[in-house]
Amino acid sequence: MTDPEQRLPCGTDQSALLEHIADDTPLPEHSATCPYCQAALAELRTSWATVRTATTVPTPPPAGLVSRVMSRVAAERGAGAGSMRRSDQRGTLRIDARAVVTLARVAALTVPGVQVRAGIFDDARLTLELALHRGAAFSEIEPMTRARVIAELSRSIGLPPPPVDIRIVDVW
Ligand SMILES: [Zn+2]
Repeated sequence: MTDPEQRLPCGTDQSALLEHIADDTPLPEHSATCPYCQAALAELRTSWATVRTATTVPTPPPAGLVSRVMSRVAAERGAGAGSMRRSDQRGTLRIDARAVVTLARVAALTVPGVQVRAGIFDDARLTLELALHRGAAFSEIEPMTRARVIAELSRSIGLPPPPVDIRIVDVW
């Protein structure tokens, strides 16, 4: 069984992508052009490079290394100790940081030229770190991304959305 958290919105299994990076084999045709795959690849390459410099990796990688990297990526993706909650006399709804960040990430990826490098939800603020295509107009992308993220969080969670801070950390 495949862990659903490792599936991208396009259906690609992220651990399969990581194996292409680890083994340095060519990517499937889909992943070469798909924005979801490209965003995941950027993130996985960063994590993989960190792992590779921290350890001497023989070939093939030791058993369990791929899953260790995957869980690290998942932890970074859901970074932050925040949660959103709504309580009434019937009970409490709590939405953890990881869920908030995943919703925000998927909404941000609908903006052309945007890749999401990291998302942090903490202290009731959401921070997205983006890499933008070098042809993009940053001044247009930033409000568009924020608006889409806020709309998606309002729609899906049904609570007032948090402030959304956007950091542009890279250009591709
Ligand atoms: Zn894809």
